[in-house]
Amino acid sequence: MEGLRYRPAVFLDRDGVLTEEKGYITRTSDLAIYPYARRCVARIREMGYLAVVVSNQAAVGMGLLPEKTLREMNEKLRRDTGVDAVYYCPHHPKAALAAYRLDCSCRKPAVGLFRRAAADFQIDLSGSYMIGDRASDILAGKRLGVKTVLLESGYGMERLEFDITPDYHAQDLREACGLIAGILQERGLVWEK
Ligand SMILES: [Mg+2]
Ligand SMILES: [Zn+2]
Repeated sequence: MEGLRYRPAVFLDRDGVLTEEKGYITRTSDLAIYPYARRCVARIREMGYLAVVVSNQAAVGMGLLPEKTLREMNEKLRRDTGVDAVYYCPHHPKAALAAYRLDCSCRKPAVGLFRRAAADFQIDLSGSYMIGDRASDILAGKRLGVKTVLLESGYGMERLEFDITPDYHAQDLREACGLIAGILQERGLVWEK
């Protein structure tokens, strides 16, 4: 279609990637954004990628976090980090609240949310990345066909829930961004100051 310009994205898990992993976070004031998150997101966007958060938030289905509060949290995340969009899955197959109890197609490692984001933003998946701290993040990325980066922050130092090999490893989001910048430079696609 004429006029449509496809852009690659860096998909980001939330907890353990942009914010401290603290288990279920149920109050906006408990959201602890890493001090480097904003700078990293700016760098991702400067390199020409969209920054899109894809997060499993089963706390909603468990009845611990009203969806309204989660939306406030997402707004704060957007404001404080500069990400382009935040997508979340509130479901869980064993959710306490019946309305959220389903085997959905959006809970990672399923790729429903990524597909929705790709359609909403005309994302070029072939040049995109997924950065996460858990096996389910990496599997989702692989199913989607994007390059995957497993971080050591968050749950990243713990044993993976299942065996899967990411394309890259990085200590945290800062190192992951450096890695992506390096790949771009290698291909002669960007010249950083
Ligand atoms: Mg995580
Ligand atoms: Zn879902």
